Amino acid sequence: MSKLNIHACPLCGGNHLKYTMTCVDHYASGEHFDLLRCEDCGFQFTQDFPLETEIGRYYETPDYISHSDTKKGVINSLYHLVRKRMLNRKARLILHLLGKKTGSLLDIGTGTGYFSHTMKEKGWDVTAIEKSPQARTFAKEHFNLNVYDESKLKDLPDKSFDTITLWHVMEHLEHLNETWELLYKLLDDNGILVVAVPNCTSYDAEKYQEYWAAYDVPRHLWHFTPSTIQTFGAKHNFILAAQHPMPFDAFYVSMLSEKYKKSALPFIKGMYVGTIAWFHALAKKERSSSMIYVFRKKK
Ligand SMILES: [Zn+2]
Repeated sequence: MSKLNIHACPLCGGNHLKYTMTCVDHYASGEHFDLLRCEDCGFQFTQDFPLETEIGRYYETPDYISHSDTKKGVINSLYHLVRKRMLNRKARLILHLLGKKTGSLLDIGTGTGYFSHTMKEKGWDVTAIEKSPQARTFAKEHFNLNVYDESKLKDLPDKSFDTITLWHVMEHLEHLNETWELLYKLLDDNGILVVAVPNCTSYDAEKYQEYWAAYDVPRHLWHFTPSTIQTFGAKHNFILAAQHPMPFDAFYVSMLSEKYKKSALPFIKGMYVGTIAWFHALAKKERSSSMIYVFRKKK
């Protein structure tokens, strides 16, 4: 197996990399992966993760697509309810930040197409990119949405999008700095870049430590904080214009984390911890389980 061994911090280039914890892939393989943190800038990442060419099998479990489509089970029902609310909230946020009702959107990592579909329904010109062929087929069948694979990215004209979104995608991308460069190139000078990622300084991350479901090794390669993602943006000529909490993620993440800990009542305990996490995020948004970061280009 080809793995990526990181010797220098992808954010600052420093080489003072310190072991923080070992996480288990509870979702697919049961394999162990170490997390390291750069002592110079604080950026945390998964060490020795499988390369892009081989990581596919870590996504292959029976419930990967169904994860976003069946309504079986309490956790999934709740997930659906929250998703609908979140889709509308995401759309409102973009309209508000951009200051116009429609525009051109590039949605990278569209998944099964729910967000792209929502925006298309609102009159947006949507370009959707998704790596998984099964997810692309799903989007076509359910929403009649044409979704491209990632090779399309190199054919897109410079500065052609008012909005680029990556909803829980950036933590999966092997070529992190190259991705930021590409985003800068594709975004209009007055456009907005919206990046949502888990927050490893959240209440629930600190509570669950190595069991925190959003470490999700080895699918999640990078473990951002409000501070490290802002530095990433700055490195690539973006300014962090706004940040918004996604406190509802704490419920789903806490339930999964309880399941990984083999708790007797993962649903009840997860709801309980999710509620406490929600209050923490209310008091301080930087403690939210996941965060939405909005970047603009530096002028
Ligand atoms: Zn660093």
